[in-house]
Amino acid sequence: MKICKVCLQSNILCSACSKKLDNGEIKEIDVKLSRELHRINKKRDTDLDFLSTVQDGGKLFVVVDGKHAARFIGPGGRNIKKLSQDLGKQIKLLEKTEGSDKHVIEKLIGAPVIGINKIYSDIESYKVRVEKRYMRQVQPLTDVVGKIIGKKVSFVFE
Ligand SMILES: [Zn+2]
Repeated sequence: MKICKVCLQSNILCSACSKKLDNGEIKEIDVKLSRELHRINKKRDTDLDFLSTVQDGGKLFVVVDGKHAARFIGPGGRNIKKLSQDLGKQIKLLEKTEGSDKHVIEKLIGAPVIGINKIYSDIESYKVRVEKRYMRQVQPLTDVVGKIIGKKVSFVFE
């Protein structure tokens, strides 16, 4: 969760959590999502959590630990549907796993990576090679994947 226990249960933020929001460490949507998850957790006796969020248009990408992805979605997708409703946004779940960048990217995009060409300039950037047939699914995730792994990412389809 991105806010403390006290703030999860109230509608205002304590000074420590306000500070995080002010300095950009967390976003408004992280606060909302944390509180919604807390509500679901209490009601269903579970412990859903997330790592980060990326907003892209009307969509909210929620990055969760790979181990917890199934629980986050819930039986028949009920948890994720509830969250979408309450937050008024389409939610797309992205799994973050441990391991090599290749493995992490494959999990995020849900498609196999043929190879990664690393380009070193002022910032490290990745040219990620993916089969052409995954283009429609993968292309829209370009910015999101870059933000999640903290590198400049571009996809090449071949
Ligand atoms: Zn707090």
